[in-house]
Amino acid sequence: MAAPDRVTEPVASGVLEKTPLERYVAPAKPSLVGMSRARLSEALAAAGVPERQRKMRVQQLWHWLYLRGATSFDEMTSVSKELRAELANRFTLDRPEVAAEQVSVDGTRKWLLRLPGEHPGERGHEVECVYIPEADRATLCVSSQVGCTLNCSFCHTGTQRLVRNLTAEEIVAQVIVARDRLGDWPGRMPPEGAIVPTDGGRLVTNIVMMGMGEPLYNFDAVREALQVVSDGDGIAISKRRITLSTSGVVPMIERAGAEIGVMLAVSLHAVRDDLRDELVPLNRKYPIKQLLDACRNYPGVSNARRITFEYVMLKGVNDQIADAKALVKLLKGIPAKINLIPFNPWPGSTYECSDWDQIEKFSELIFNAGYSSPVRTPRGRDILAACGQLKSATEKLTARERMALRAMAMTD
Ligand code: SAH
Ligand code: SF4
Repeated sequence: MAAPDRVTEPVASGVLEKTPLERYVAPAKPSLVGMSRARLSEALAAAGVPERQRKMRVQQLWHWLYLRGATSFDEMTSVSKELRAELANRFTLDRPEVAAEQVSVDGTRKWLLRLPGEHPGERGHEVECVYIPEADRATLCVSSQVGCTLNCSFCHTGTQRLVRNLTAEEIVAQVIVARDRLGDWPGRMPPEGAIVPTDGGRLVTNIVMMGMGEPLYNFDAVREALQVVSDGDGIAISKRRITLSTSGVVPMIERAGAEIGVMLAVSLHAVRDDLRDELVPLNRKYPIKQLLDACRNYPGVSNARRITFEYVMLKGVNDQIADAKALVKLLKGIPAKINLIPFNPWPGSTYECSDWDQIEKFSELIFNAGYSSPVRTPRGRDILAACGQLKSATEKLTARERMALRAMAMTD
């Protein structure tokens, strides 16, 4: 498994960005789970498979990994016994360990996954992923980093101290683990508490890169992972059903459209630079105008493929009717949807969610201006699974450190 990419953006002064960890030690026997075709081909080469056979062998592994959810090499009956033994010598089919599973009263499920750290044998990092079933779809909210180098003032993940990029395999593995736990592999014995599809369809229909981390700061791994999950011969979730959310990493937006080609969501949250500087400190590097220009030029954007603008509703901060009017004006000419997200408070957060009648007024103005403006109903509140609440049990900042960070943010 490759080491995660370094975040190449220069780390700015103050608290705009934290420095990510660089080291990551893969287990002695790497897992094939989550690997792309290219990496599987390398694994087969290491296992002595001659080049002319590799493509066909990759296709066989692909079937067992991504259509059948195989957990042992013995199951792979289309693969010769010798090769199975050779693969088992060198590789595993391990998934990240599920450290905790929580099921909300509304059906939302949250998994805490344990991943290797920087030193062999140490406890490692944790990352969360959330399953949100709805009437017409079921969405898996996937993480791209352990923690986040950015420090948005209203986001729980931003308060996490340590940050490391996930590998492509670890990103794909979140989908695999979800399907394991949901009993979503055809012909496989479901675990206790699984949902199990009854109509022949799949339980995970959509993916949003809206968990922990900034996906465009882990571009290569996210691109590779999304190629694996959208591959029509395997997990086959179409790119139209995958949304990547960014806080506004302007230089990477065009590449995201051209090289990944999924739907884009942008965390706007404010209509003025002074306020956005405070809420999304990355705005100091890439202000609103630059961000919206990048959106206008997003490859593939059209009325049929609109960009979603996320707007968290913070009481008395960004929720006035004047803000709604300014928002409509700002987005003029961009094929857009606006997603109003009620703020999800977390222990120690300093903001409050806007009152419902204010959210409704805001939403109505946007609707009357011609935008669909669904208010995203908070899900899984009882298990702290809603947007921006994801944060592992370890590596928390103390309240004092948090206050110090905020104070620095104000003066930076
Ligand atoms: N880093 C990326 C994706 C992960 S965050 C980004 O910022 O876009 C996914 C979404 O949840 C973003 O729109 C983020 O602004 C929002 N969010 C973060 N904390 C939140 C909170 N406490 N309540 C509501 N939404 C929140
Ligand atoms: Fe990171 Fe997104 Fe949270 Fe900001 S909102 S701190 S970019 S995860």
